[in-house]
Amino acid sequence: MKAGLSPCPPDWEAIVNALEAWRDAFPKEADSVPSVSTVAERYRQDAWAVLLSTILSLRTKDKVTLAASKRLLERASGPAEFLALPTEEAERLAFPAGFYRTKVANLQKISRILLENYGGKVPADMEALLALPGVGRKTANLVLIEAFDMDGICVDTHVHRISNRAGWLESKSPDETETILRRILPLKFWKRINALLVLYGQQVCRPRGQRCPLCIIAEHCEHKYAATKQHPQSGFVPQAHDTLDTFNGKS
Ligand code: SF4
Repeated sequence: MKAGLSPCPPDWEAIVNALEAWRDAFPKEADSVPSVSTVAERYRQDAWAVLLSTILSLRTKDKVTLAASKRLLERASGPAEFLALPTEEAERLAFPAGFYRTKVANLQKISRILLENYGGKVPADMEALLALPGVGRKTANLVLIEAFDMDGICVDTHVHRISNRAGWLESKSPDETETILRRILPLKFWKRINALLVLYGQQVCRPRGQRCPLCIIAEHCEHKYAATKQHPQSGFVPQAHDTLDTFNGKS
């Protein structure tokens, strides 16, 4: 097997179609949409809003990210306004996002760079984004996708874990996963794969206790049998009418 690639290419069309059908049937709760997408919709592809929200979202729950982003954006609709905010006030608004003090400090540095080098605008360029403090490939890709409608693949922990677990590729880091996906995933699926796999990773193919018997992409996953045996309800055969609640013994 060539390092990094599955010997049998995944059927992306079938995987994406199945995940989209599953997502469409999923209850439309606030939690079901990644917070950055929600912020991007609300602020109509405002690049500053997407950048700020994405930075706040690292190691932070979606609900917390969304609330903190709204509080900060109401007071700071751009880098100049952000710099005008006293640090203590910015930290109070960012709390309880994880590492909120570091994130506020990075946003202050970013604001200065944007004002000095880019006329107060967020650059629509991967290398320029990666040069900003606290901005990694996940954040840069999200900004390019959500704010500028450019092609990118945002690989977070869910995309990385599911891609490897399912045997679609072999990689040691999210960045390596992104590099491989850029080679094997058709361009038309690049922007969609993150939102689909994040929700699926939260609800079904979870970090621990994956719900393989209910998985709608099990036929595309090498891990399904091992994972099913590990589950306390192994032997459970899902029927068409079964739901996640059935699997959890709630009905
Ligand atoms: S079969 Fe299990 S391990 Fe494979 S993608 Fe589905 S939930 Fe994840």
